[in-house]
Amino acid sequence: MTLTRYTAWKWVLGLGVCVIAAYFVVPGDAAKDLTYNAVGLFAAILIVVGVRLHRPSSAGGWYLVAGATGCFVLGDVVLNVYDLLDDAAPPSPSVADILYLAGYPLLFAGIFRVTRSSGSRGSRDSWTDAAAVCVGTIGLVWHFLMGPVLVDPVTGLRTTGFDLGKLVTMTYPVLDVGVLSVVSGTILWGRTRRTADQLLVVAVFAMLVADFSFDLLSIRGTFDAAGPVNIGFLLNYVLLAAAALHPSIGRVVDVPGTRARRRIYWLPLAAGIALLSPLILLLDGFSELPFDRPILSATSVIVFSLIALRVWRLFAQVRGQNELLHQQSESLRWALTAQRMLEDDLRHQASHDGLTGLANRGQLRERIDQALARAPSDRFVALCFCDLDEFKAINEGMGHEIGDDLLTVVAKRLNSIIRGTAIVARLGGDEFAVLLDDAERPEDAVAVAERIVSVVRQPFRLADRSITLSCSVGVAVAGPGTTTQALLSEADAAMYEAKSAGKDRMVFFEVAMRSRLLEKTALLNCFPGSLERSEFFLEYQPQFRLSDQALEGFEALIGWRHPTLGMIGPDRFIPLAEESRFILPLGRWILMAACREAAKWPSRAGRPLDVAVNLSSWQLQDPGFLDMVRGALRSSGLAARSLVLEITESVLMDDPAGIAELLREVRRLGVRVAIDDFGTGFSSLSYLRQLPVDILKIDKSFIDPLNDPESEGDAFVATIVRLATDLRLSTVAEGIEHPIQLDALVRLGCRSGQGYLVSPSLGPVAAQNFIEDHRNRNDRRPSVVELVRNV
Ligand code: C2E
Ligand code: CA
Ligand code: CA
Repeated sequence: MTLTRYTAWKWVLGLGVCVIAAYFVVPGDAAKDLTYNAVGLFAAILIVVGVRLHRPSSAGGWYLVAGATGCFVLGDVVLNVYDLLDDAAPPSPSVADILYLAGYPLLFAGIFRVTRSSGSRGSRDSWTDAAAVCVGTIGLVWHFLMGPVLVDPVTGLRTTGFDLGKLVTMTYPVLDVGVLSVVSGTILWGRTRRTADQLLVVAVFAMLVADFSFDLLSIRGTFDAAGPVNIGFLLNYVLLAAAALHPSIGRVVDVPGTRARRRIYWLPLAAGIALLSPLILLLDGFSELPFDRPILSATSVIVFSLIALRVWRLFAQVRGQNELLHQQSESLRWALTAQRMLEDDLRHQASHDGLTGLANRGQLRERIDQALARAPSDRFVALCFCDLDEFKAINEGMGHEIGDDLLTVVAKRLNSIIRGTAIVARLGGDEFAVLLDDAERPEDAVAVAERIVSVVRQPFRLADRSITLSCSVGVAVAGPGTTTQALLSEADAAMYEAKSAGKDRMVFFEVAMRSRLLEKTALLNCFPGSLERSEFFLEYQPQFRLSDQALEGFEALIGWRHPTLGMIGPDRFIPLAEESRFILPLGRWILMAACREAAKWPSRAGRPLDVAVNLSSWQLQDPGFLDMVRGALRSSGLAARSLVLEITESVLMDDPAGIAELLREVRRLGVRVAIDDFGTGFSSLSYLRQLPVDILKIDKSFIDPLNDPESEGDAFVATIVRLATDLRLSTVAEGIEHPIQLDALVRLGCRSGQGYLVSPSLGPVAAQNFIEDHRNRNDRRPSVVELVRNV
């Protein structure tokens, strides 16, 4: 191993051990003394060399340690000189004592500064522990080292007079205890991991052990320089030199977190040392040493007080930690509660409707599942399906905010009518459902459904406006084996029936509705591709002027020739086409086909003939509607004057202002507008005044009573005709089946009519033939009535 600044300490350690061994081998006291002092001197010099080499931040501390070592070496030299000059014991105190005593403060300060630079700073607890160790050791030291000094070796009694020599002798153990406390403090508080510091601590310990042993042996007069005690002193020198030369001396190390752990390990040892005084008190009978009760008692009391203080503080600490733990567990519990609340919230959000807070579709299904699974045999599970009527118009006409408010109020009203475990759910849009999971009789469900219809009928006051609303409710009651899906679709089917039957009512589910429902789904699935496959066809029902029986035109009526289901009438599929919006492409096709066909008629009739085309409300709401009408006229070449568009009264009610504007546009094109099924809707007659329409088509239900001459059935028709005349509107009677009806209508002044009496709807070819036939007959001028009567 080469000697470098990094390996020097190993060389010193190795050589030091060799020299220590040599010390015991060399013969003669003088040689021994020389070796001993040389080792000390070299140590002091090497400490300075080490500091110069490694330049530690605590250089001052190491110089102090070097100084202390120098003092001790000089003290030894002085003693040796005494020895050489005179074989007798040196005086007490001597110059050596002065040098020794001068070394201690340097050593104190040195160790203190060196260890402090390694980041050690004692806490109150550490100081208490160190003090307990210190006081405990003082008891021990007093008993073994100091007390005996005070005893007169001749009389065996304790001397009382002042003796400087004895005082100085007694000072050493006290100072050693002081050094011990500083060193133990280093271990207690030290975070040092530097080998240099550890070597320093071991060196000082070696010195202390040697010192105590020396004191003890001196008192007994059995000290021998060739004995093992001097190993301690020599080792102290060697270790000090090695420490100062160790490269780690210059490193700044601070390892946080190791302090507390180390103090725990140290505690039993500290407590053991602290308990030494009481132990001596306990064992006093077995020792022949003089026994100093007051001193030992005092140190015992102090040690116990310190331990008590320490324990008290420990308790306080534990209490504090307990408190902290409690707080932490509290906050953990709170966090858990908060988490649970959040989970509940999320679960609620997942199962509830955001707007109204009602259960959503998923939650409703779950509740139906549960209700069906556990319903007792004497109880019924019933579902009321509620769909608001014309809600779309309100939503679009008044704004979605009002729409939302309206839905919220409806939800509240529905909630207010249920009792017990029943729940209200919002299925989306304007659809609600009430689940009765514990009804005594099916009639209870009917009662609830009626309540629903009546609470929705109550006017709503929103944004300073009064809004009236209605709803259609379907009721289904679960029987044995009914599934959730079946119950839902039965209630849906019944609701659909309620809509078809005129809305604002409740309908109880019947089995026939299921087949209708099945058919409905089947038909819905048949729409795609049906236009492309030319499954639809138009027929034309003739319309006559009643006064002179002249053919005025035809109403186009749609039919569906389904490849497997056969012929399907418009009453069955038009509502579905509207619901699925298939009516938009279908309606376009109808208008085009009707215009194209009607364009052929004038050449056959020798004059223009009208074509009336039925429209659906969805077509009117389509932004491309007007363009579509223009396009149909342009591409077919049909005169706008020949086209009549039929709309129902209810269409007008959805959005009166908007529709009126649109109809004005339509009329500006030259196209006429007819109100279909007039009389069945809710429009007040005076309201008609403002409507941009040309023709009223009196619904068949008002024509039917005209068949019975006894009845007063003609009053309504008479009123309509009079009103229409006032408003300069034309009138068309629908569904004339009997000559009596025709006579009555002529008498009442109705202008035109159509019905099976004259002709059902005809295919395109048949319609053309009809036109030609009529033209020929017309040339002979027979009246239509005569014509029919003669058939
Ligand atoms: P609507 O517009 O009131 O048409 C008159 C309906 O009464 C037609 O039934 C017609 O065949 C029938 N009818 C005519 N004369 C008589 C009669 O003397 N006695 C009886 N009992 N019935 C008569 P259809 O063709 O089944 O049409 C039913 C409804 O379907 C129509 O009522 C109309 O609302 C709708 N519809 C028909 N074609 C179309 C269409 O092309 N587009 C739209 N959107 N709806 C259509
Ligand atoms: Ca019609
Ligand atoms: Ca009609």
